[in-house]
Amino acid sequence: MHGVFHFFIGLIVGLILYGLGVLNLGLFLIFVMYSFLIDIDHLFFFVWKKGLNFQEWIWLHKSLYRRKEAQPYLFHTIEWQVVLIVLSFLGEVFFVLFLSGLLHVFLDALVHYLYHRNFHWLRRWSWICVIMDK
Ligand SMILES: [Zn+2]
Repeated sequence: MHGVFHFFIGLIVGLILYGLGVLNLGLFLIFVMYSFLIDIDHLFFFVWKKGLNFQEWIWLHKSLYRRKEAQPYLFHTIEWQVVLIVLSFLGEVFFVLFLSGLLHVFLDALVHYLYHRNFHWLRRWSWICVIMDK
């Protein structure tokens, strides 16, 4: 899903949570920022797969995006969500990151489902499943 769309959905949901008094201003800003900056993990994946070759990143991104091919992007994995839930006991900011990330991942999952019409790709969003499938 496009980053601009993620930003606006994050902004709308963040405004609702802010309006309901669930988020203060600082947590609202964190919620909105994380709702689209979470996709920075794609860059980590590109560096892991292609090194620092920017042209290869563009090619890989276009190729994966066109086929809606799921990859184990760090912040999209179930393992990362578990880490955020555990860290939530240390501070509310981690729970806000979890909620914002959950919104983002849900929207990405919706796009993947509408394209593939199955959930087979979901195993790619788990490092454990990716390792077990090798
Ligand atoms: Zn994403």
